[in-house]
Amino acid sequence: MKYIINYENKIKKVLNEKVYKYYIDTMGCALNENDSMKYSGILSKMGFEKAENIEDANIVLFNTCSIRENAEKTLYGRLGALKNRKKTDENFYICVVGCMSQQKHILEKIKESYSYVDIVLGTHSMQYFAKSFYNVISLNKKVVEYVEDKDELTEEIPIIYEEGVKASVSIIYGCNNFCTYCIVPYVRGREKSRKTEDILNDIKYLAKQGYKEITLLGQNVNSYGNDFKDNSYNFVNLLKDVEDIEGIDSIKFISPHPKDFSDELIKYIATSKKVSKQIHLPLQSGSSKILKLMGRKYTKEKYLNLVDKMKKIIPNVSFSTDVIVGFPNETELDFLDTLDVVEKVEYNQVYMFIYSPRKGTVAEKMEGHISEKIQKERFQRLKKLADEIIYKKNDEYVGKIYNILIEGKSKNNEDKYTGRTADGKIVIIDAKPEDIGKEKEIKIVSNNKWYLTGEII
Ligand code: SF4
Repeated sequence: MKYIINYENKIKKVLNEKVYKYYIDTMGCALNENDSMKYSGILSKMGFEKAENIEDANIVLFNTCSIRENAEKTLYGRLGALKNRKKTDENFYICVVGCMSQQKHILEKIKESYSYVDIVLGTHSMQYFAKSFYNVISLNKKVVEYVEDKDELTEEIPIIYEEGVKASVSIIYGCNNFCTYCIVPYVRGREKSRKTEDILNDIKYLAKQGYKEITLLGQNVNSYGNDFKDNSYNFVNLLKDVEDIEGIDSIKFISPHPKDFSDELIKYIATSKKVSKQIHLPLQSGSSKILKLMGRKYTKEKYLNLVDKMKKIIPNVSFSTDVIVGFPNETELDFLDTLDVVEKVEYNQVYMFIYSPRKGTVAEKMEGHISEKIQKERFQRLKKLADEIIYKKNDEYVGKIYNILIEGKSKNNEDKYTGRTADGKIVIIDAKPEDIGKEKEIKIVSNNKWYLTGEII
């Protein structure tokens, strides 16, 4: 906590004990959401309160994503919208953190076009936020810092978990794979596994707080432990240790890489009582030619063999995936290969994206970029197929009974409650507040395409 405590009182003094409110706008993946919970911990430790909306906040923190162009445009749009307020409100501060701020060309763009931004901190600098904010308010200066990737991880960061029965815990940061389209290795650095005891302590703490389901997070969770001096402890060992923690009923993980999915891991999932049988297995493309250009290190055949092996060994296994459409040099035949894999695997969920060139990646410089028209047309065809498969599979649940953990209120309907089948299907239920956190026997009564409806029996 030393990174914060040193500044907590200094900041209070400069602000004359005024209690500022903060608002965090999170873009991107589950890892960014986890980082935002840490920024919430830091800002609370600095003595600030959470604002319900951006209008009520004195400090707005944009936790950015750089995975696609749209994400970047989103940030610039939101910064533009705050320009006037920054001019008129002296108790208002704008901070930009996350993956965009770990790129030098973006730091330059912010300095040039959004010079009214107070703090810009990259993915390796969270621990310097309190010091940076103190410098901004006491020295009236901007803090725009680029910090190179470091070998060690900073553990002493307070975190405020979202209320509920489910929580995510980061286990490994960074990525060594350098898929040719991906910016992550450049902005999140090399793979660094957290100490096992720190992870287990976090989960024991969450279990004591009443959390029932834990999702283990990392760009490549099945690389966990590869960077430890002695390679004696790996991802399966970690799953076993998490499974032993009392109070935790369900364990999920995201994202594994297909090339690192070991037989040991498959066998463990098959026999585990707590590890989810719903596996997120990013495909990206069904064409071996495109997979090679992407640097994914597996082929269409290898991926399908892995899925077949899991279907044979893991009871009730189901899959979700990520697919990129319109990668450079993707022909109609390549795209048909993608549709073929989607048809064969029958995913419960397909997260699909149109290829977006990222500055500094290998693919950005590739020849053979596909026209937007063709990219969009293929995206629609993939979406149509994936939706049809999901809808058809949903029918198989109707009339059956499942044990389902009531997770909380439905996001779309305050009067309803929500939970998921073991293989990840969302179920909307009539329930009572006291049912939250409890497992109930539920009969599925209807298929509503994106979710199922169920009744407590
Ligand atoms: S495995 Fe590939 S796609 Fe995933 S984070 Fe690493 S480089 Fe990016």
